[in-house]
Amino acid sequence: TEHFPAMVRLAPLRRGYVLLLAEDVSGPQRLEATRRDFTANISHELKTPVGAISLLAETLASHPDNPEAVAHFSGQLLKESARLTNLISDIIDLSRLQAPGVLEAPKVVNIDQVIGQAVEASALTGKANGIEIVVGQPSNAMVLGDFDLLTTAVRNLLDNAIRYSEPNTKVSVAATLEDDLVRINVVDQGIGIAPEEQERIFERFYRVDPGRSRAKGGTGLGLSIVKHVAAKHGGTVSVWSRLGRGASFTLVLPAAPQTLTGEAGTVTEA
Ligand code: ADP
Repeated sequence: TEHFPAMVRLAPLRRGYVLLLAEDVSGPQRLEATRRDFTANISHELKTPVGAISLLAETLASHPDNPEAVAHFSGQLLKESARLTNLISDIIDLSRLQAPGVLEAPKVVNIDQVIGQAVEASALTGKANGIEIVVGQPSNAMVLGDFDLLTTAVRNLLDNAIRYSEPNTKVSVAATLEDDLVRINVVDQGIGIAPEEQERIFERFYRVDPGRSRAKGGTGLGLSIVKHVAAKHGGTVSVWSRLGRGASFTLVLPAAPQTLTGEAGTVTEA
């Protein structure tokens, strides 16, 4: 019944008649099934870093007199615990975003500042991977919403662009304001995504190449978080890509009404 919005039961009656009972399970029961799937996936995903951490701790304990081994395995241990921390923080973000309801206390958010903050957060990873992040012209675009959530969304797109690119390539990010829509575009020159995978990548924990994702610190939740942030702001996220030809992700959000932002895009009221 998890995959069918309506559950149909046949109730036998006397004298050869049957009563057809249809129960709508598209609401709370479907939500419950989704929650169960998510919990099962989480337990599975947590087992990988937790297993690695206990194995590394054991290995470390058995090499107390070998400084090289100690340095190597403690480095690995730190990497695995960082992975666990990222995973937990993505799980918490996603659980909050999955809760039904609209954003609490939305404010006028300057999209150029969102991009600035996201670039700052991703810059180190970019540098470590030999990737230059290029920022487009200021858009003066404003959106009614949550600064931190929007920054997380743009940061996730940037981190992915870096994660799935080779060194000495560029990642660019730019926003444009057209009529009453704000477009934030993140483009890379990386490995790309085959058309048949493009819908699935927004699902929780779906990865085209789980090995590469994990090795580069991915949690499998980044795009799912982006999709939920877009939805909470009344917007969408989409991708254009071909294998080996990079990827271009676009977040489209409704612009904040002019009455809230003033003529030159300055905030007059929150
Ligand atoms: P992950 O933590 O694995 O990156 P995401 O939800 O952010 O999880 O992305 C899901 C999958 O989509 C990734 O594992 C990867 O296979 C693919 N993907 C996402 N962004 C890109 C990109 N810019 N280029 C190529 N593949 C990408």
